[in-house]
Amino acid sequence: MPIFIHSLLFDNKRVGKSPYLCGILQSISLILSLAFSFEEGGLYWDLRYVPLVLAFLYGGPISGGMVLFAYLATRTLMGGDLLLGYASGFLATIIPFIFMKKFWKLDSKKRIRTAVFVGFWPSFAMLMILVIHIFTNDAPAEDTNKIMLNVAIFGAIQVFAVWVAAILNESLIEKALMRQEILRAEKLNTLGELAASIAHEIRNPLTVVKGFLQMMHKQEKGDNYYYLSLVLTELGRAESIINDYLNFAKPQFEKLEDAQLAEIITEVTLLLEAFAAKVNVQVNVQLNWGVFVQTDRNQLKQALVNIIKNAIEATEEGGEVTISQTSSGSESYIKITDTGKGMDSEQIARLGTLFYTTKDKGTGLGTSVSIKIIEAMGGMISYRSELGVGTEVTIILPSFRHFPADEGNEIKMNNEI
Ligand code: ADP
Ligand code: MG
Repeated sequence: MPIFIHSLLFDNKRVGKSPYLCGILQSISLILSLAFSFEEGGLYWDLRYVPLVLAFLYGGPISGGMVLFAYLATRTLMGGDLLLGYASGFLATIIPFIFMKKFWKLDSKKRIRTAVFVGFWPSFAMLMILVIHIFTNDAPAEDTNKIMLNVAIFGAIQVFAVWVAAILNESLIEKALMRQEILRAEKLNTLGELAASIAHEIRNPLTVVKGFLQMMHKQEKGDNYYYLSLVLTELGRAESIINDYLNFAKPQFEKLEDAQLAEIITEVTLLLEAFAAKVNVQVNVQLNWGVFVQTDRNQLKQALVNIIKNAIEATEEGGEVTISQTSSGSESYIKITDTGKGMDSEQIARLGTLFYTTKDKGTGLGTSVSIKIIEAMGGMISYRSELGVGTEVTIILPSFRHFPADEGNEIKMNNEI
């Protein structure tokens, strides 16, 4: 209940916690736990240490302190063997208190494990205190057995409760983080669109300026000739940067045509052949001629170059990259398999995030651009990868088959490059 209420009150505003709210809620559950405890053999059995552990680990010193105080106060009001009550309260606090600082440096899975480990401690402390209690009070053996059984049962329930609560807490934290990430992405998206429209507006005057400068350049004979050459190259650079950005923001399909997939793949592999040879990676190609897609050839080539280049870059010397193209019905499949270093599931999940790169000189744009282009073509792309084994990229594109009567003689038989 404290975890749910806390997330209800805090969820929409920000990730993170109010230690006071956490302290109050966990204190309430501790007080209720004490008030409705189960009595046997003159001892009270309940889950009082669960809120204590959770408050220290997830809420920090303030909420932990509040819960400890609530415990001591309630225990005093209840009366009974106060010394035993105080001692077990302080003893149970020690381990959660020690782990509290390190706790947030761990990742989510390790936090759950730590919480369970810390959850064991109060039961253990309880056992020790009871053993001392039994010996000093000379309890009959029958009672001792009963007490031990209760320690075992309640200890197990406590650990289980801490485990469940930790999982719950972690999933709520993850959800809050995800929401934040979505908001951030949304903002970036808007910014991106704005930047694209500005870039577009800048391109037009730039073209005009460039045109007139080119005219002046032709007529100029004096000193300015050299300066104008410089100005023109720099203008060209500015133009190509703007075009690259615009292309990323919104792939321009300038000239739609029926392009033969096998031909495009051949051109791309020829383009990358030298690059692959330099790092000693063998590129195998299996093609299926006669299948066409309707697209802007340059865009599709760009998408394939980015993906195949990544595959080659991930592969060690002597490795292989295989590109196979098949089709069935109205769909074509291009599989790009490498024997490279692979990715774990976390890395795969980050693919397509702008500027995500693990390379020193990487830009983290390639995969994002490829995904955008393929999706704009109505296609799909998926990654399957295993660390140390390799990666398989599957691209599915809408395609059709036709055998042009006149151009048929151009079909090449050599499928291996
Ligand atoms: P860049 O190549 O500039 O790093 P990309 O967007 O092309 O940017 O790729 C992002 C990251 O995805 C790479 O840095 C790499 O870690 C990972 N990656 C992409 N393709 C593969 C692959 N085939 N095998 C292993 N890792 C890959
Ligand atoms: Mg790349």
